[in-house]
Amino acid sequence: MSIPFVDLKAQYASIKSEIDLAIAGVINNTSFIGGPIVTEFEEAFADYLGIDHCVGCANGTDAIEIALQALGIGAGDEVIVPANSWISTAEAVNAVGAEPVFVDYLANEYTLDPVLTELAITNKTKAIIPVHLYGLPARMPELLTVAQSHQLKIVEDCAQAHGARIAGQKVGTFGDIATFSFYPGKNLGAYGDAGGIVTCDKLLAQRCRMIGNHGQLSKHNHQILGRNSRLDTLQAAILKTKLPFLEQWISQRNQVAHWYGQYLNENVQCPVTPGNTYEHVYHLYVIRTRQRAHLMDAFDESNIGYSVHYPTPLPLLETYAYQNKSEADIPVASLLANEIISLPMFPEMTEKQVQTVAGIVNSFN
Ligand SMILES: *Cc1c(COP(=O)(O)O)cnc(C)c1O
Repeated sequence: MSIPFVDLKAQYASIKSEIDLAIAGVINNTSFIGGPIVTEFEEAFADYLGIDHCVGCANGTDAIEIALQALGIGAGDEVIVPANSWISTAEAVNAVGAEPVFVDYLANEYTLDPVLTELAITNKTKAIIPVHLYGLPARMPELLTVAQSHQLKIVEDCAQAHGARIAGQKVGTFGDIATFSFYPGKNLGAYGDAGGIVTCDKLLAQRCRMIGNHGQLSKHNHQILGRNSRLDTLQAAILKTKLPFLEQWISQRNQVAHWYGQYLNENVQCPVTPGNTYEHVYHLYVIRTRQRAHLMDAFDESNIGYSVHYPTPLPLLETYAYQNKSEADIPVASLLANEIISLPMFPEMTEKQVQTVAGIVNSFN
C-alpha cells in the first residue's frame, strides 16, 4: 500500500462540483483581479478568525513582508524569529532591510522559547515573529507579556495554523498583525499561490492594502511606495468555497493525530501540546526518532511519503552564513533537526493508512 505525504486529489474529489462551479463563475465574469469575490473571501476569513480586517495578497511570504513594512520596520531594525521555520519567516525580515535574530525553540513544541526571546532583545529590536509551527500555537500569553514590557510589535506567522486556538481564541488574533499562506498544501490551500494579512487595526490594514496595490489609496492616487501583491480572484473563489469545510478538515486531522498517538509505540516522541487549552491543527505530524535514516529508507521502500521540516535550522543555512552562527547558539534546534521527521498527514487519511505508517515507525523504535 503506497501512502502519499499529502493527498490534494482526495480533497478536490470531495468538493469537486462546488469548486468547478466557483472557477467557472470567475471565468464567465472575466473579472480576474479584485471584485466582490475577493472582498467576500476576505470578510469570511476575518469572520472565521474573529478579527476585523483581512487583506488578501499574493502569497504568505509577501504577507510577512507587507506586514513588516506597514509597521514601519526597516533598515537598522532587528526582528526576532524562530531558528526553525520555513525560510520565508526570516527572508521577509531581510527583504524589508531589517535583520532577523534567530532564537531557539521549546524542545517538543517547536515554537519560540519566550525566555530566550526576552534575552535576545536589544535596543534595535522592533518586533517578534512567533510561528505557530506545524499547526501548534506558539506560547502567545508569555510572548505577549515579553512584547508588551519591551514595547515590541508581534507579527504572527500563521501559515501552518489556520484555525489553531488557545483557550478558544484563534491564532492570528493575538498579535498586532498576522499573516497567512494559502499555498496549496496548507490547511486552507488555494490552487496556486495566495496569502492574507489580518489585523484589528483599521489603519494598519489600509496601509497593507495600499502596499500590496502599488501604494494606491484609490486608482491613480499613489501615496506610498508599494508593489503588486494582490489576491487573485480565482484563488479567492476557491478559498471562499473551501473555507466552510476547514473546521471539518481540522477535526479529521485531529482524528488522524489521535490514531497516530494510539498506534505509535511509547518510544516515539509524538507531538505534544502545552496544556489542554492549546488546540493543534496538525498541518504536519512531526515525530522525533534517532533512527531517522533507517526509517526513511524503509518509507522509500514501501512508497510512503515523508519529509523533514526542516533539515537545517535557519541560521545554519548558507543564506545566513554571514551571521556566523553555530550549533551552540541554537542547541535545541540543532539537535532536533537530526531527529525530526514529518509523517503522512491529511484529512482524508484512513485509520488503516495510519496503522501501516505507525507499524513501520515502530519497527525501528
Ligand atoms: C508556507 C509558509 C510561509 C510562506 O508562504 P508562501 O505562501 O509559500 O509564500 C511562511 N511561513 C511559514 C511558516 C510557512 O510554512
